[in-house]
Amino acid sequence: VKDKGRAHYRFFHTEMNESFSNAVMLESHLRRAIEMDELSLHYQPQVNLITGDIESFEALLRWNNGKFGMVPPSQFIPLAEKTGLILSIGRWVIEEACRQLNSWNNKGINTRVAINISPKQFFQSDFVGHLKWALEHFSIEPSSLEIEVTEGAMEDTRTMVSVLQEVKETGIIISVDDFGTGYSSLHYLKRFPIDILKIDQSFVREMMRNEKDAAITQTIIHLAHHLGLEVVAEGVEEEEQVNFLKKFHCQKAQGYFFSKPKGSMETEAFLLEYKKE
Ligand code: C2E
Ligand code: CA
Ligand code: CA
Ligand code: CA
Repeated sequence: VKDKGRAHYRFFHTEMNESFSNAVMLESHLRRAIEMDELSLHYQPQVNLITGDIESFEALLRWNNGKFGMVPPSQFIPLAEKTGLILSIGRWVIEEACRQLNSWNNKGINTRVAINISPKQFFQSDFVGHLKWALEHFSIEPSSLEIEVTEGAMEDTRTMVSVLQEVKETGIIISVDDFGTGYSSLHYLKRFPIDILKIDQSFVREMMRNEKDAAITQTIIHLAHHLGLEVVAEGVEEEEQVNFLKKFHCQKAQGYFFSKPKGSMETEAFLLEYKKE
């Protein structure tokens, strides 16, 4: 299963050769992805390293197009950002995550879903209004929803502080994605109402072999502890990484070591089984 996805992505890359007409075609297909019902969310568990419990899931967008097949997010997210399509796609993600949570709640499953928010979405005038509407419409407990924000989004400090403040007031959880890879990290930790830091996978990947990555990972964990924030390590693939993270009291981890992102049906089947234990 592991290599199937990758082979497919490679196929896409070489066949399309990033030519102009294909880029235009890709865009016109992406424009219709929502109405064609081609988008879906896959879910990757986030594991509490102390209890071993799955406490939450990150929702990751997938696009399965009739012509192009599975298009990787690294291809279509940048295109969606560039064309502004990310605004309607982002709204779809919010609603789909809430719809899924509602459906799971009705089956007795209570969990949290973290969704990725693109920088552009924050500067949409009705962003918070739409979040509130979705919570209300799908009867979702606000703390069941988490938004992941990247550091790059935080450039316009004034707007971000007020938008995040409003989000915080709804009770939605706020996490900083890819922490350590952006610019003004320490400064905004003081100003933004953040709940969680996610250690970028570039640090986690090499941390058992590279002393600098190990030091950076430890430092981010300590920083989170001192600031009273939760900390999540992503891209965890090996048991040694889990042991290292436990040793430094990192609360949560996510990565192929635990599970790859899985479709909603598979995730649901797992959760129903998990609930019984
Ligand atoms: P991200 O938010 O940093 O998401 C983590 C990426 O790492 C995901 O790739 C995930 O499948 C992958 N991953 C998880 N565990 C491991 C591991 O142990 N090893 C390795 N090598 N990789 C792991 P994916 O799903 O391809 O998503 C790529 C990026 O696309 C995301 O990075 C995020 O920036 C963006 N993205 C995905 N879904 C959405 C969305 O709904 N909205 C927006 N705006 N961006 C999204
Ligand atoms: Ca993320
Ligand atoms: Ca990330
Ligand atoms: Ca990333």
